[in-house]
Amino acid sequence: NLTQRLARVVKTMRGQARLTEDNIAEMLREVRLALLEADVALPVIKEFISRVREKAVGQEVIGSLTPGQALVGVVHCELTALMGGEQAGLDLATQPPAIILMAGLQGAGKTTTVGKLAKLLIDKQKKKVLTVSCDVYRPAAIDQLKAVTAQVGAEFFPSTPDQKPVDIATAAIDYARRHYFDVLLVDTAGRLAIDEAMMAEIQALHAAVKPVETLFVVDAMLGQDAVNTARAFNEALPLTGIVLTKLDGDARGGAALSVRHVTGKPIKFTGVGEKLTGLDEFFPERMASRILGMGDILSLVEDARVAVDEEKAKAFAQKLKSGKGFDLNDFKEQIVQMRKMGGLSSLMDKMPAQFAQAASQLQGGAEEKAIGRIEGIINSMTPLERAKPELIKASRKRRIATGAGVQVQEVNRLLNQFEQTQKVMKQFSKGGLAKMMRGMKG
Ligand code: GDP
Ligand code: MG
Repeated sequence: NLTQRLARVVKTMRGQARLTEDNIAEMLREVRLALLEADVALPVIKEFISRVREKAVGQEVIGSLTPGQALVGVVHCELTALMGGEQAGLDLATQPPAIILMAGLQGAGKTTTVGKLAKLLIDKQKKKVLTVSCDVYRPAAIDQLKAVTAQVGAEFFPSTPDQKPVDIATAAIDYARRHYFDVLLVDTAGRLAIDEAMMAEIQALHAAVKPVETLFVVDAMLGQDAVNTARAFNEALPLTGIVLTKLDGDARGGAALSVRHVTGKPIKFTGVGEKLTGLDEFFPERMASRILGMGDILSLVEDARVAVDEEKAKAFAQKLKSGKGFDLNDFKEQIVQMRKMGGLSSLMDKMPAQFAQAASQLQGGAEEKAIGRIEGIINSMTPLERAKPELIKASRKRRIATGAGVQVQEVNRLLNQFEQTQKVMKQFSKGGLAKMMRGMKG
């Protein structure tokens, strides 16, 4: 594996007094590979490697270090610099209420982050926090924010789907002023892909509320895809910071590097897990260590990724065994995994044959786009609907389709595919569990 390969390179570099083009060439190749596997965007890697080369060549290897270790030092330093160097906090120094506007695609984690951020501000900074949802496309989105807000002990400013986002925000600001709130968190709608209507809406919202912080929320699991989204939002809005969500047990910091690079804006927080305590300040230096691995060299991606996936597979098998069955949450989880692992094909190997077959029917081509749409549709469902898909009748279907920006037929198709898959899973839970676990491990 990569770690071993790098270790070997470091060894061959022992006993040399200076870093030279030659003795770092192989090492840099490995670094490049490592960053590629961490899903960093190619142009970012290129620039990074050339900067490291520039800094490293000619540098003396001091004391007990091997040239390999010395180079790792340079890489670490440059990685830290690339991710912003210093930790950047929120800037709330303004006439209250300090308004924080959330921007990002649907499913990025905006609403969850509003909850997490409110909790942080309440617990750590004793702020009086108001939240408001301008996501008028999905009634469930407003309810979601309401629930999240109640959980963290902030106040929720109600809104309804028939209102205009700008009107909602304006009313919330007025309320926040009159009731002496320190912070107003403005949650917004997102789409599955960047589209002009959404950008125009959030630009109008930004102009109306004049936020002190405009945070771009982005899913770290998007990897390289995060780049295009980040670029589009950065061009449309004067972002002040980035929140990188879903960094759960994912050793890849690739998206952090890429997003930082294309926007030039500081990553202020990282989100981990669905619990509302899962928001951390972002420390560039720690992320660099994480990408590099703690030991001597770049230990990477591969192992951590496999570990995570294996754990999930186990938990999944356990769930079936306990007789709870296969619901849309599992279905979505599988899809997210597929996406993370770069499409269906790699996952297929880990799946029992029958499930793989169902999964391939569900895609009819396995394009990344299709996976994204399915994920989007499931994201638009409430937790209850995901657990009990049989509840999803006509009116719910319409709401979900609107939320996900698709036709009702597509929701129907997804539900049919889910049903098929569920049937297969039921068979497994009856007789084929052992077989399935074997399949997943393989
Ligand atoms: P929004 O559409 O941008 O508002 O996204 P949501 O906040 O509704 O989040 C979409 C899904 O991602 C939900 O199922 C969240 O629980 C989940 N989510 C959000 N942030 C994180 C995170 O940091 N880690 C994990 N594992 N899940 C998250
Ligand atoms: Mg939301």
